[in-house]
Amino acid sequence: MSKIPVVETFVDENPAKTNLLGMSQAVLAAFFVGLGEKPFRANQVMKWIYQSGVDDFYQMTNLSKKLQDKLARVATITPPTVKFKKFSEDGTRKWVFEVAGGSLVETVLIPADDNKQFGRKTLCISSQVGCALDCAFCSTGKQGFERDLSASEIIGQLWVANQSYMQDVPIAERQNMVTNVVMMGMGEPLLNYEPVVTSMQLMLSDFGFGLSKRRVTLSTSGIVPKMYDLAKDIDVALAISLHAPNDALRNELVPINKKYPLADLMAAAKAYVYDENPRHKKHVTIEYVMLKDVNDTDAHAHELVALLQDLPCKINLIPFNPFSHAPYARSSNNRIHAFSQILSQAGFVCTVRQTRGDDIDAACGQLVGQVADKTRRAQRWQQRVASHTTA
Ligand code: SF4
Repeated sequence: MSKIPVVETFVDENPAKTNLLGMSQAVLAAFFVGLGEKPFRANQVMKWIYQSGVDDFYQMTNLSKKLQDKLARVATITPPTVKFKKFSEDGTRKWVFEVAGGSLVETVLIPADDNKQFGRKTLCISSQVGCALDCAFCSTGKQGFERDLSASEIIGQLWVANQSYMQDVPIAERQNMVTNVVMMGMGEPLLNYEPVVTSMQLMLSDFGFGLSKRRVTLSTSGIVPKMYDLAKDIDVALAISLHAPNDALRNELVPINKKYPLADLMAAAKAYVYDENPRHKKHVTIEYVMLKDVNDTDAHAHELVALLQDLPCKINLIPFNPFSHAPYARSSNNRIHAFSQILSQAGFVCTVRQTRGDDIDAACGQLVGQVADKTRRAQRWQQRVASHTTA
């Protein structure tokens, strides 16, 4: 078992107080013991925070007035600051959060097709400010990497999303509306391992958000050693951002492939699925962005079939969302259909992701990058585009 440290650091807007949001159950219990209280107080407070959306200790009615006073003096429940929010006609919701230090991260909620009040709502959560991995088709990658998010900044995104449905609902009648979480926003979650695992533990905990392990998905571009750690530390669904069926193309599209090539990645994916613990029935989804004339030919589809033949998985094709100065275009619907047919005929369950929320720039890959596009690579592209238009 890899080590998840018991002591964690929390970024707190009020450094005089301890932010309880994002604390693991064990750390919160130790916090209460440190206050001279019983450890079970942690479970009570977690339920108020994560199940009732309460951030005011004086609304936690099963705590004594003395304990409420004590908590109000030394502790806080503080999510990242909402800098911008926009709710789309189709039910999509988007938030831009300002985190400690002034950086921006983005969170997107996408409802199921029917957009029913209690229907499926999937929240795409960020794990880092920017990303170091510089995938060629990704808007976030072009921003470069700023810093890891703390557990409070990660779980705070889910807390705020649920809160947005709780306004005007009496505390006793509140319930969380987000049904699914994907760690698929800004950043590579396995490069911010401990806060991400702590956050996912809070998502699964009966005292936390209580989500089913099948409804929490971590998406990785393939940080192979951490995939083995993840299999031991927590039971969640795994998505792999594959995007290419051979090393030469993947080296170009997902540069981390040069460090962890496909043979290593496939071995780690199989190890994740075939976990020795029979209670862990792991699921793997292969994510494949459809880039016109780059990775979308019939030959690529057949190569993908051969690559994945021994890996039980489903395949999710993602129509590319072009962004400013992106060097790629979206594959046509006919091409995506033909590609998916080859995969389906080979026996794979293959879905095509619907693009939603385009009207608020909430489609995947268009995160805060649109606000802060600042790597040299973006500048190079701009120069290239400018030289083509003036030639
Ligand atoms: S696709 Fe994911 S891993 Fe790659 S640059 Fe974008 S955020 Fe980072």
